[in-house]
Amino acid sequence: MENRLNNIVHFIREYAGSYPGYSPADLTVALERTFALPREQAKKLAQMPEVTREKMGLAAIELNVTFNCNLTCEYCFVHCKSPQERMRFATAQKAIDLLMDKAIFPNVVITLIGGEPLLEFELIKQIVPYALARAKEKKLEITWALTTNGTLLNEEMVQYFSQHQINVLLSIDGGQETHDRYRRTRNGEGTWQKIADRIPLLKTYQTWLGARMTVSKEAITTMRQDFNQIVQLGINQLIIAPAQGAEPWDLLQVEQYGKNMVKILEDYHNYQRQGKQLFIEEFEKDERVKFGWGCRAGSTSLAVAPNGDVSPCSKLLGLTNEAGRYIVGNVHSGLDVKKLVPFQNAISRQPAHCKECSRPCAGGCYAVNFEQTGDHFTPPTENCFFWVVGQETTRMSRFMKFC
Ligand code: SF4
Ligand code: SF4
Repeated sequence: MENRLNNIVHFIREYAGSYPGYSPADLTVALERTFALPREQAKKLAQMPEVTREKMGLAAIELNVTFNCNLTCEYCFVHCKSPQERMRFATAQKAIDLLMDKAIFPNVVITLIGGEPLLEFELIKQIVPYALARAKEKKLEITWALTTNGTLLNEEMVQYFSQHQINVLLSIDGGQETHDRYRRTRNGEGTWQKIADRIPLLKTYQTWLGARMTVSKEAITTMRQDFNQIVQLGINQLIIAPAQGAEPWDLLQVEQYGKNMVKILEDYHNYQRQGKQLFIEEFEKDERVKFGWGCRAGSTSLAVAPNGDVSPCSKLLGLTNEAGRYIVGNVHSGLDVKKLVPFQNAISRQPAHCKECSRPCAGGCYAVNFEQTGDHFTPPTENCFFWVVGQETTRMSRFMKFC
């Protein structure tokens, strides 16, 4: 749902950027065709001034309730942050007000993230009723998500999240050996067992459970068994992604990653044939549908740091370079919305070589781009490799479905 909304807004922005003198009737037809929308709905969307005239219109916000964490994962994007940075309730209120006042869809998404957000459970219990009250006032629905390392989960939290339909997404890198290689406590202890112990409790309240599996270069060879171990833990929905950052992957590493993704794909379809409840979006995508250039960050989604600073994305907030963090203001003192224009119309910043690409991607991750090329909108070469891997696995997945 969130992705579809973001894709529609993105499409409208790109359309407006590419055809500045467009007529709403043309855009209506384009929306109808691209998203199979009913005529009336497409017409309404085509006339949304906030979206088409490059003002800020939001569908989602990421609240970094703290930069503190009980773990010290080596590749964490907030690794260098001060552990003392915690969000005040007044800051969270301002962030939620921003989302509610700028919402462009009847459904908004709030992601609670960090650091480790469960360290601020008391704050979360203040945020949730405030956001619900504001949403009611504005006649909006909220979809909640919470990204956690899972080690601090207890029954009170799980009950609370279930009661408020807050979807918990766990970060698990694989089996014990792989996971504990990087995801350790401050004392150097592994954390896999702690998470494994909490999954039955979590499943009692949240039957459909999601996780993110980050694949480091050291874990390429064990990807398949890591995937299987995660599935055996009872995870239903999985995001599998390489650990990208300042250190580029070389072609050989991406090739190995791709080969192992194909093995995971085979296992995935076997599980599905056996009736297992399992879903990986990458394997289920329609490869023929492409949604333009640039991700949702800074376009329909913003991230708020514990001190109220606003950036297009939490991953950018984690960068040490000030220019990379791309702070556009603070929820207390206001935003310079003009600074978001490049993100709202990312296609205008597409590098020349990408314009000529025969197999164009969506432009990569702004944070990874900045880390490796010094520009948010210029993807590094590894992005092209990973894009091909993604496309090929999606293509093979469609084929395997009918085997
Ligand atoms: S695949 Fe590579 S060259 Fe092609 S559009 Fe993407 S980043 Fe640019
Ligand atoms: S692709 Fe990167 S910049 Fe875009 S939303 Fe995801 S993490 Fe943020």
